[in-house]
Amino acid sequence: MISEDEARNRILEEVSPRPERRVLISDALNCFSACDVVARLPLPIFDNSAMDGYAVVASSSRKGARLKVIGEQPAGADRQLRISPGEAARIFTGAPIPIGSDAVVMQEDVTREGEQIVVNVDIESGEFIRWSGCDLAEGQRILEHGERIHPTTIALLGSQGFIHVTIGGEVNAAVVSTGDEIVEPGKELHPGQIYDSNSALLQTLLQRCGACVKSAEHCPDQHEPLRKAIQRGIKSHILVITGGVSVGEHDLVQATLRSLGARIDIWRVAIKPGKPFLFGQADGCAVFGLPGNPVSAFVTFLQFVRPAILKMMGANNVDLRKVPAKLIVGLTNEGDRPHYVRGRIEDGTFTPIGRQESHALFGLSQSNGLLRVAVGESLKIGAIVDVQIWD
Ligand code: AMP
Ligand code: MG
Repeated sequence: MISEDEARNRILEEVSPRPERRVLISDALNCFSACDVVARLPLPIFDNSAMDGYAVVASSSRKGARLKVIGEQPAGADRQLRISPGEAARIFTGAPIPIGSDAVVMQEDVTREGEQIVVNVDIESGEFIRWSGCDLAEGQRILEHGERIHPTTIALLGSQGFIHVTIGGEVNAAVVSTGDEIVEPGKELHPGQIYDSNSALLQTLLQRCGACVKSAEHCPDQHEPLRKAIQRGIKSHILVITGGVSVGEHDLVQATLRSLGARIDIWRVAIKPGKPFLFGQADGCAVFGLPGNPVSAFVTFLQFVRPAILKMMGANNVDLRKVPAKLIVGLTNEGDRPHYVRGRIEDGTFTPIGRQESHALFGLSQSNGLLRVAVGESLKIGAIVDVQIWD
């Protein structure tokens, strides 16, 4: 049995970033930038009005001032208007500020009288003007190598006129769930059988990481079908197998992998839940064997599979996000493995939730955070702890 850190480091050493690719920005969601990107335009691009109203010279537009309206500047083509003190230009949101103007007065704050306006408020220089570059300067970095691309990042790239972005490589994944007792949802359940919940769990976790699930199949605890399923699965970049990685007579994953010439790098990790975890390689495919118990599969996916996928996709940070929270109960780990306690993080507090056993899927489904309690660690009520979150 090796430590979690050893397992994680070993896995990260063994997997490599996939070749980068250039894609449409709209196809880059949840991928990682493969380079630093700098702004080629400032934001705003030009000084423009934040309101529908009148562009004025602030110093000549005190409350009660009467100004001559010399023209109109809608959003769109810049009419290159020029105003002097005592003059105003009708202007609309997003329209370029006329030369000589240093403020905009809202249309609600003036009285229009023919070709003139009377200003009903005091105006300060700069009011309701969005100055060029105040949000973003030209040349400023807008995307870091390895940074995750969010919808807002895509909007920012679009604001620069970019249609393409270079991102880290695609990761294809296969899922094989094993077990004679496991039945596909939708089929009839006979005594002694349970529905396959891990397959859906793992497929959706993979998708959420950004991996592309190429296949998912179920296989009984028999060498030949398992061998064939693994042979199909290792055509992907990663294969996630669940169940059958333990030491019982029906746990055939390890032996089957070896019979296919796979190299087993890791088997059994000091982590609770999730001890019977396996990592190996077959034909260039990274193979993960996760325990069948749903909570163990979930925890080991997040701690070991997710970082590997993110590294392969070119991420600069493969860690789960952690948020500080105040512990609602005391927790002590008297066991011999670090314990990932499932719980709910809400309003800055963390409360363990549901049964803390590796089969307890309902409790897991109610949780939104994992608290790692190290061996021998005793956490007091009210302690501020860092909770891993996955959403
Ligand atoms: P195993 O790792 O195969 O020894 O399975 C450990 C436990 O997880 C057993 O109670 C299995 O019935 C259960 N289990 C295995 N595979 C799945 C699955 N795909 N979905 C839900 N539970 C499973
Ligand atoms: Mg089994």
